[in-house]
Amino acid sequence: MSGRAVLVTGASRGIGRAIATAFAADGDRVAIHHRDSADLAEALRAELPGEGHTTVQADIADPAEVRRMVDEAAKALGGIDVLVNNAGVFFHHPITEVSYEDWQAAWRRTLDTNLVGAANATWCAVRHMKRGGRIVNVSSRGAFRGEPDGPAYGASKAGMNALGQSLAIALAPHGITVGTVAPGFVETDMTNEHLKAPRGDAIRAQSPFGRVAMPEEIAAAALYLASPAAEWASGTIIDLNGASYLRS
Ligand code: NAD
Repeated sequence: MSGRAVLVTGASRGIGRAIATAFAADGDRVAIHHRDSADLAEALRAELPGEGHTTVQADIADPAEVRRMVDEAAKALGGIDVLVNNAGVFFHHPITEVSYEDWQAAWRRTLDTNLVGAANATWCAVRHMKRGGRIVNVSSRGAFRGEPDGPAYGASKAGMNALGQSLAIALAPHGITVGTVAPGFVETDMTNEHLKAPRGDAIRAQSPFGRVAMPEEIAAAALYLASPAAEWASGTIIDLNGASYLRS
């Protein structure tokens, strides 16, 4: 079997889809993880360049499903060389507007998916990895800059940054690296609503390029963090934002 074995979570659309495509174009075999998008995942598998790709299903917030899914991916690909923790959710839950019950639900679901889900997938994947293994986490600008409409999201991504730094130390003796990419706004289903006028215009104006990122630009960073050359990037958080937030 040629290329590396790469598991990408939340890969049926958006940034995950672009990441899966970039790895396949680089000659790797990809396990396309999805929760409830079997049709989309299968369509992507069929159109990816190269051979040996597969699809796997799990609710990433369910620890038992994650363990089964990672084991299935490893079996289909013959191990795991790279795990990309990309699956994530954003819930709108401003503190002054939502009920206590909705507040609880947003926090639990967000942390279970974005943070604990990534931690669990990593625990499982590491058991299939050899020296040279790579973990790539997709964090967010929300980790650094506040998310007033979705505070659980920002907290989950800040947690993901801390998770990556801790595991970079813990896994270095095993020859495994952990790198994190933290994008600003990217054009995907997650940001559809945010990017509509007039708020979208203000968001685009944050970058001197006058736009937001495309998923392929995040995939390029993920590919680098997973490359053999990126051992020295372990523990790094790439703040990928098109020179946004630099103006005084
Ligand atoms: P998206 O909504 O298109 O993709 C998210 C993916 O995660 C989907 O495929 C979804 O099915 C999957 N997912 C969500 N909950 C899941 C669960 N419980 N189990 C399994 N899969 C689940 O959005 P996207 O923009 O492509 O987001 C991908 C990642 O990038 C997320 O972690 C997101 O937080 C992060 N991110 C996005 C942006 C942005 O502006 N779009 C910016 C920074 C970071």
